[in-house]
Amino acid sequence: LNTSNQDDVIRGTDEDAVTSKLSAVNMGYIKDEYVKWFVRRPARRSPIINRGTYVRNIGLDTLIIKFLEIDDVKKQIVSLGAGSDTRYFHLKSLSRKFHKYFEIDFPEITAKKVLTIRKHKELSDLIGDDAKLGKDNTEIYASDYCLLSGDLRGFVQEMVPWMESNGFDRSIPTLFLSECVMIYMDSNDSNKIVEWAASNLITSMFIVYEQILPNDVFGSTMLQNLRLRNIELRGIHAYPDLESQKERFLSRGWIHAEAVDINKVHDSYIDPKELARISRLEFLDEFEEWHLLAAHYCIAWAYKVTDESQKLLYNK
Ligand code: SAM
Repeated sequence: LNTSNQDDVIRGTDEDAVTSKLSAVNMGYIKDEYVKWFVRRPARRSPIINRGTYVRNIGLDTLIIKFLEIDDVKKQIVSLGAGSDTRYFHLKSLSRKFHKYFEIDFPEITAKKVLTIRKHKELSDLIGDDAKLGKDNTEIYASDYCLLSGDLRGFVQEMVPWMESNGFDRSIPTLFLSECVMIYMDSNDSNKIVEWAASNLITSMFIVYEQILPNDVFGSTMLQNLRLRNIELRGIHAYPDLESQKERFLSRGWIHAEAVDINKVHDSYIDPKELARISRLEFLDEFEEWHLLAAHYCIAWAYKVTDESQKLLYNK
């Protein structure tokens, strides 16, 4: 496949992600009033996939909310390859406050997002009246929301200056989010983002959610199945396990890094009452398969704080 066809395939993965999220919402695993408007063809996913979507979502939300709650100062979030993600709307509906929430994706994807937002008053109301459109209706600039179109392979040269002309502030705590995004990029390109975020901000945090363990039987079957759809997880060989996921940050200027797989999130970080609740939603009898799947996804996070007192807060 040439580059532009490969990019088409990568853009297609957004539809998968949002369809899975709606399936988990419809089955009662997670609450999100907004995702239904971003799905073209709803589909019910298997109990294992729904559980995975649930754990992924709780794990990421816990870290994001922790970041927003530390210190009462202005903060910003940069969602890399945000696709049809509805987290901004969900956080706003919970009255969460931030200086600005940036979302970046290819123009083909952001154009669809703009259309959906314009179509549903519930979405545009959360963004506010002062929102302006730009770049052929592929971008939105509002007081605490900024949807930008572009290619993350040009993050440092092209996206950063454009973010800065739209209110990005290097001096305030910043959270970068890559949820199933950098895994599709060459590690040369994604590493530039990781490096830039460590060396150009005073306080920053990075959260990654993606596949690991490409080499065991389950992992190689997963890669083969994706390859049949022309999807290549380019980053997985550079960061194939929890240790290398941490090292990606520690070797690039980040001071603290952690990486856990979805089994660990499921077993250690989710309220047992919640686990009991989701067990009643759908019958899950393939526990072995669930554990295998969950071992192949990880959440890694890193942070860098220059102020000693803040370090303590992040360590909690
Ligand atoms: N983060 C969202 C989520 O988890 O729901 C979407 C994930 S989807 C699997 C991957 C997204 O990354 C797609 O929307 C795709 O267009 C975007 N993406 C991948 N490579 C990109 C690049 N080089 N520049 C901009 N966006 C990119």
